[in-house]
Amino acid sequence: MSQPTPEVYEQGKGMDAHNQVMREIRSRKEASYDPHEPTRVWLDEDNTPTGVKQSLTIILNTGGCRWARAGGCTMCGYVAESVDGGSVSHEALMNQIDVCLEHEAENGDEPAELIKIYTSGSFLDEREVGAETRRAIADTFADRERMVVESLPDFVDREKIGDFTQHGVDTDVAIGLETATDRVRHDCVNKYFDFADFEDACAEAAAADEEADETADAGIKAYLLMKPPFLTESEAVEDMISSIERCAAVEGCHTVSMNPCNVQRYTMVDDLYFNDGYRPPWLWSVAHVLEETADVDAIVVSDPVGHGSDRGPHNCQECDDLVQKAIKDFDLRQDPSVFEQVSCECERTWEVVMDRERSFNQPLTR
Ligand code: SF4
Ligand SMILES: [Zn+2]
Repeated sequence: MSQPTPEVYEQGKGMDAHNQVMREIRSRKEASYDPHEPTRVWLDEDNTPTGVKQSLTIILNTGGCRWARAGGCTMCGYVAESVDGGSVSHEALMNQIDVCLEHEAENGDEPAELIKIYTSGSFLDEREVGAETRRAIADTFADRERMVVESLPDFVDREKIGDFTQHGVDTDVAIGLETATDRVRHDCVNKYFDFADFEDACAEAAAADEEADETADAGIKAYLLMKPPFLTESEAVEDMISSIERCAAVEGCHTVSMNPCNVQRYTMVDDLYFNDGYRPPWLWSVAHVLEETADVDAIVVSDPVGHGSDRGPHNCQECDDLVQKAIKDFDLRQDPSVFEQVSCECERTWEVVMDRERSFNQPLTR
């Protein structure tokens, strides 16, 4: 891949230009939300290093990501759902947690073993979630087996992870790395950090793991973005395979979650999609990547959100549910033979796209 010259990153170009466009797109949103209610909460099951667990997933409403306010990532519409004004008090955040506990009590048979907290930003950024709130949340879930909290790598340190592991709770930090390739992360995703920052965060988690000794484990779950804008289908597949391999090789990173890009409102991806410049990835691509990386030393999972719809990862509509089911099976069993049982005529079209799509003619299909 060619390297940009330093001038490309001057004012008004490169990341500056991406941010300018993203700020304009995001300013089109008008919704505002109640700081005492979580953005979303649901029960599910998840594959973890200690097996498949019942999970409670919480999306806390924390005022949104600061990077998104600067402009932010080209595919991320989450800020459109965050609180106006940019910060949420300790009391309001704890009210949100209470709402989630009520949801769990009403809909689950017993308390979930796994708690996952996302914030549309960074749970470990103390300007979003203060130390007092973080510790109170760690106390609230001290009786669970495992926690996952989301953060950008800058905010990951061993002491913060220690707030959770000290209760004997296995703790993972989910990092939206998106890709191991710095060029793609910077120029296609418009995310500012480097792979080296991710490696540093993994080292912090490994240190926290060591400090927790036998009582709890700490580690990193990398979130990767399958098919950011501006990449062809085959470039995206190639980038994803090498990203999974590179993440799995970093000590402290035990799980990789590959998220196929979906078209969210108020994003650059949405503008491109609307102007026929973007197609979400094929589910065949997702299956292909999972097959190709089945032997890496990490759990690799994928949960294609919005599968089968035009704005989500999709094949031909006929086979979307079938392939999605195989992907979910793979998530739980890590057995690539699940993909041998699915086939469809549209696989031929996907092969042609993989072979013939170039940046100047993409997307080759809808
Ligand atoms: S993807 Fe994460 S870092 Fe990027 S704008 Fe969205 S919340 Fe912020
Ligand atoms: Zn099909």
